[in-house]
Amino acid sequence: MKIIDAHIHFSDIQSFKNTADSISYVDYSTEGLKTECKENNVKLGIGMGVTENTKGGFPDFSSPNPMTNNLEKKKTKKLAHCVGINPVKLKGYDRIKELNNIENSLKDNEIVGIKIYAGYYPYYVYDTVYDPIYKLAEKYKIPVVIHGGDTYSERARLKFSHPLSVDEVAVRYKKVDFIICHFGDPAITNAAGVVAKNSNVYSDLSGLIVGDENKVNKRINQRLFIEHIKRGIVYVDDYSKFLYGSDWPLVKMKPYINFIKEIIPKKYHEDVFYNNALRVFKRLKYYI
Ligand SMILES: [Zn+2]
Repeated sequence: MKIIDAHIHFSDIQSFKNTADSISYVDYSTEGLKTECKENNVKLGIGMGVTENTKGGFPDFSSPNPMTNNLEKKKTKKLAHCVGINPVKLKGYDRIKELNNIENSLKDNEIVGIKIYAGYYPYYVYDTVYDPIYKLAEKYKIPVVIHGGDTYSERARLKFSHPLSVDEVAVRYKKVDFIICHFGDPAITNAAGVVAKNSNVYSDLSGLIVGDENKVNKRINQRLFIEHIKRGIVYVDDYSKFLYGSDWPLVKMKPYINFIKEIIPKKYHEDVFYNNALRVFKRLKYYI
């Protein structure tokens, strides 16, 4: 089965490197990405652009827009790109320049979507700071990917990443497709409500487990953990709404693919692992 991994990272972020080195045991490099993709028939990974400029680590309020997949200069065909938004910079003196830089990046068909780091940056997704971003998404017909639920930084604030807040922008911007990351975990029932109600809201299934193969296997065997996720999926009852993603390098691709195969019925595997991503990220046609 062909796979598109709709949520990976390929940025020079220290916490990702640390996790790859000592928690998930991933070779976080172009070579590592190519090898894991090849082993698992992953045709493409969609990198969620993010950068850190200063030693304080991610989230970095000083990062210029747009944030990119800047781990290595060498290009790889296995990587498609979402540009990341730093909303703090959209409030500053350079607001117009920052927005121009974002818009210019979107003219390139290699950019398949926009990533908003709700929770990591202290604004609700319906804050007016993001209005120009949603208008750009509508103009260029690309989806907006929104971090949902628990965060990978203690400096983040969960009230801003609660998936219920996506409902507000989904209603305001009916022509824009939104993807809630991580099914809003642990607020999965809230994310399920937003995905079920809005025809323009989807969810990726990335980042539900972080760790090595043992950790994934332990989780697969925890009935309550599996049911906690399945409950939301069953509530939505529409497998055109879910996209496979891993959050690589926070977990290896192979065990994570097996985990998602456990929670999605077999007859929907091709949609969740491949077709849905091609439909929602329209510019993937330039890659595949
Ligand atoms: Zn991620």
